[in-house]
Amino acid sequence: MKRLITGLLALCLLVLPVWAEDPPEETQQAYIQISSPEELLTMADHPEGNYVLMKDLDMTGVDWPCPDFSGKFDGNGHSILNLTIKAPGKSQSQVLDGNQKEYTAAFAGFFGRLTNAEVRELNLVNLRLLVQTEEPCMAGGMAGCSMDSTILNCSVSGCLELRAHQGMFGLAGMVGYGVAAVGNCQVDTTLICVDTDRETGDEQFLGGVFGTGFVEVTDTQVKLDAYVSEHGYVHSGGIGGMLLQYPIGMGRTAYFRNNTVSGRIRFFEDFRARRAYCKALIGELMKSMNYNYGFTDNQTEHFQAEEVLEYDRELRPETCERPEIEETVVPSSCDSFGYTRYTCKTCGYTYRDHYTLYSHTVTEWQVKKPATAEAPGRSEGICDLCGARVKREDPVLPEEPEPETSEPAQPSVPKDLPMPAPTAPKKPLPKAVWMVLCTLSVVGILILVFILTEPQGKHVKKRRRKNRTGK
Ligand SMILES: [Zn+2]
Ligand SMILES: [Zn+2]
Repeated sequence: MKRLITGLLALCLLVLPVWAEDPPEETQQAYIQISSPEELLTMADHPEGNYVLMKDLDMTGVDWPCPDFSGKFDGNGHSILNLTIKAPGKSQSQVLDGNQKEYTAAFAGFFGRLTNAEVRELNLVNLRLLVQTEEPCMAGGMAGCSMDSTILNCSVSGCLELRAHQGMFGLAGMVGYGVAAVGNCQVDTTLICVDTDRETGDEQFLGGVFGTGFVEVTDTQVKLDAYVSEHGYVHSGGIGGMLLQYPIGMGRTAYFRNNTVSGRIRFFEDFRARRAYCKALIGELMKSMNYNYGFTDNQTEHFQAEEVLEYDRELRPETCERPEIEETVVPSSCDSFGYTRYTCKTCGYTYRDHYTLYSHTVTEWQVKKPATAEAPGRSEGICDLCGARVKREDPVLPEEPEPETSEPAQPSVPKDLPMPAPTAPKKPLPKAVWMVLCTLSVVGILILVFILTEPQGKHVKKRRRKNRTGK
């Protein structure tokens, strides 16, 4: 009995510290880890979940659905490269213009529509948004629309272009439309917003951080190269196109503190009732509808508003009729992304595209887990240049072809992929060899049996008989 109690006590002592060290169940289960573009795409199936990015991702070639989101997304300081957006997300909702007129709009962005969401530590590098639409649409690098969401310590770089003509539309570096708080973020984007018809006078919005809405922006740096072509009303600003309390009278706050805006907005407003809102911070400030807003310590001296009074040609960064583009590939390194630089030889216009992930130089790999025909392996090495420990996954080994069967060969990884194969599996012997070996051993056994038993016995007996008769 005493021994049993002592045993139980010892067991408790062993188990208790483990319980104490584990994080609480809530945080343990709260975040789904994302390590590949495929895993990032699954976010659309569980938009209320919490996610954490585990590595930088290259989204080249992925068709992005602009998912709605209402959970927490922790980018963990990582970057998403080359995300391409060609169409708005599936969901639509009501938006308001400055006259409180309602439109049903679609939304395009890394997130289509954020609701009570929190996004942090996420970098969108070389985002390429090109959306042409027949309906009202709000587009933003991080989100097309945001309701009561927070975006902290994030960055967006790339080129975003919206081509629309219906009622109300807009484009921004971070949030197209809505209510949000943006803090400690960086925006470095080319924005191109084009009204594609001359017939209707639209409400058009453009901003480095937000298009229109009630978005608080603090400690944020904006570098902007923006082009607006509108046969209607333009609302554009280095931070936001229009500040509008939405819904009216909610008593929200929106302070603009310690932001830096540089670059320019080049625009035309082809409309009979010209207003031409274009300012370094907020294009149009709806004073009669806003409460609890203010501006302190914002730097805007390197911002330019350039109005063009020629309406026949849409405004774009590239101005040549026939640009002659030269390509230069800048490779990635241990601590910087690579990219291709495209420069027009005629006018000097230059931009970057096709980014590549960090790359280390490892000459000696140590196989930690050899790859097999069923599962990939794992190797580790030390970078020759920076000393970083680098891990890689080694692809599944190709299956050995079976010579006797006439089945088609299994699809396998290309032969030229680097593969550590220190323990090559033994080749099975061909059947013909097996048959010869079997025959030889059977013959051998027969000979052995023959020598040991019958012939030798007779011989001895004969000899003995001989001996006996000889006596
Ligand atoms: Zn050019
Ligand atoms: Zn390195």
